[in-house]
Formats: sequence, structure tokens, C-alpha cells
Amino acid sequence: MNTPALSLIKSDLPEKWQEILADLITDPKELLDFLELEEAANPYSPVACTQFPVKVPRPFAERMEKGNWHDPLLRQVWPDLAEEVTDPLRSEDPLQESDFNDKPGLLHKYHGRVLLTVAPHCAIHCRYCFRRHFDYAANTPGRARWRETLDYIAQDTTIEEVILSGGDPLAAPDGYLRWLLNELDAIDHVRTLRIHTRLPIVIPQRITAELRDILNSLRCQVVVVLHCNHHAELDDRVFEVFSALAEDGHLLLNQSVLLKGVNDNAASLIALNKALFSQRVLPYYLHLPDAVTGTGHFDVSEVRGKQLIDELRSQLPGYLVPTLVREEPGKSSKTRLA
Ligand SMILES: *Cc1c(COP(=O)(O)O)cnc(C)c1O
Ligand code: SF4
Repeated sequence: MNTPALSLIKSDLPEKWQEILADLITDPKELLDFLELEEAANPYSPVACTQFPVKVPRPFAERMEKGNWHDPLLRQVWPDLAEEVTDPLRSEDPLQESDFNDKPGLLHKYHGRVLLTVAPHCAIHCRYCFRRHFDYAANTPGRARWRETLDYIAQDTTIEEVILSGGDPLAAPDGYLRWLLNELDAIDHVRTLRIHTRLPIVIPQRITAELRDILNSLRCQVVVVLHCNHHAELDDRVFEVFSALAEDGHLLLNQSVLLKGVNDNAASLIALNKALFSQRVLPYYLHLPDAVTGTGHFDVSEVRGKQLIDELRSQLPGYLVPTLVREEPGKSSKTRLA
């Protein structure tokens, strides 16, 4: 298939995603300088930065509003002092994922689908992340160790879908993705390859012509589940890559996390889902945050979540209302709340 390069919209940033990924903002002070903010108003936690280092891609930082401590994008990446709050009801592994980790890089919790941790890192560190304490390095196999996992998938004919997750699977290089996707595509009973990724949003340059060729060459149906929480994360360049992926025939869905001070109001969620739909992206899940240590300042109650869904239902067509879910250990699927 002919896939023209995506370079219609120019910025001062390098065009190569690897260069952008190698030059993330990792110093909170640099982020503040860039945003013209004074640290005294909202000091950061050095402890939090050690536990889960700051990582902000420059294309994402450019979409933040200067001088605004309440910017919804800044809030998602700011290592707030509140992360130091300890709470006995929160844990480092609330989903008990380590219990399901029987083959290298594999989580097989739900019927018919498995999740693979494909890349050991992300392009951005979202402070609310439920995998912020996850040992990616220990759970991301190299090619040789994938063999055991690929054999497991090949032997279980109930597995029809493989989900590439992470870290962020698109943080992996194209050559590695081509190899892994081709291996999975060659397993007859696998029909769907799903990619859970935040990269098309935080570094849209990641959607290269080569990556599009890899996805377009697969027999399986490809589903791309984006992760966008606020419409301010979307700009023309991001929309350009959504359009490209949709034109290639892939199904585009979005999941969000309901986050206090970011998107916990109906107007914001409506604006987000309308903006996504204008680029052929449908809402999938709206997650209530998990009870992860250090993320309590993002909590939104279940009652409030249901209220918001009711408001969305009264104002949007059914297909633009995401499903409110929470993940609970030991369940056969995510728990639907509304
Ligand atoms: C969320 C999740 C899935 C996918 O569930 P869907 O409801 O199909 O989106 C699969 N495996 C694991 C381990 C998950 O956490
Ligand atoms: S991109 Fe996803 S996995 Fe990575 S830090 Fe953000 S929420 Fe967590």
C-alpha cells in the first residue's frame, strides 16, 4: 500500500520520533521555566521524582498553557508533593497483576485475549499510572524469551486477540514491532491485534510510514486504543495521524482515566469525545483511577463518575458515551459501573 510521509504540519521539533524520545523533559525545573511558572506556588516532590522520574515529551509540553498551574496536561505530569501521602488502602500492585505473570511478558486474565508487555518504558510518565510501580525491565522479554509466550498463545486456540501494551508498545523500534507482530499474525486463531498506546498523542511523529506499512501488512484486524484524557492534548498534528490510521482501515478507540482536576466535569468529557469523533475515534472506556500508592490526589468517586456518565448520556449520542469501568482483581472482565 502506498503510504505517503506525514509531514504536512511543520514545527521546530525534530521530525524523527527517536530524537524527540531521546530529548524528553526530565527536570521539573525545566518544565516550569518553559511554562513561565514559579516553583514556590507548587513545589514538586524529589521523592516522587526518584520513584517515578519525570518524563514529558516536548510536543506534549508545547500544548500546555503558559502560566497556568491548573493546566490539565501539566497536572497529569507534575510530581506533586501529594504523591508522598501514604494510605493503607492503596497498594503498589492493586490489580495483583504479578499473580498472572506466568509466561514472559504475558498477562492472561480474561477469556479470549491476552495482554503482552512489549516495551519496558513509556514516552511520558503519567503521574496517575496504575503501572507506575511495575517492574517493566523484569517483565519485558527479549526476542529469545518471547518464544515461550508465542508457543503458549499458539497452543491455546481460545486466544483470538492479542493486546500489545507496556510500557507503551510504540516506544519499541519498528524492526522489533515488525518481528513480533508478524509472529503473532502467523498464529491462525489470532484474529485481532490490539495496540494500547499514548504515543500517537504525546509524540505524533511516531506514526511513521514504516509503522503504517507494518500495520497494513497484517492479516489480523488492527485496533488502536489511544489514551487521551483531555481535548487540549489534541492538536492538528495529532489529528493528522489519527486520520492516517483511520484511512488505513484500523479501528480507533480511546480510553481515558477520570482524573480530579483534569477531566472530572461533563463539559470537558463532552469536548473530548466530540473532538475525538471528528477524527473517527470512538470512546471506549472511562476508567476510575486504581488505588495505587501516590495517586490519591487524582481520585474521583464512583458516585461522581456515574453522575458524569448520566450527564454525557443526556447530551451525546450513545456511541459517544464511554463505558465507566473499574478494574478489580479476580474478575473475569473489567467491572462496568454505569
Ligand atoms: C483491560 C485488559 C484486557 C482487555 O480487556 P477489554 O475489556 O477487552 O478491553 C485484557 N487483559 C488485561 C490483563 C487487561 O488488563
Ligand atoms: S503512557 Fe500509560 S503506561 Fe505509560 S505512564 Fe502513561 S498511563 Fe502509564
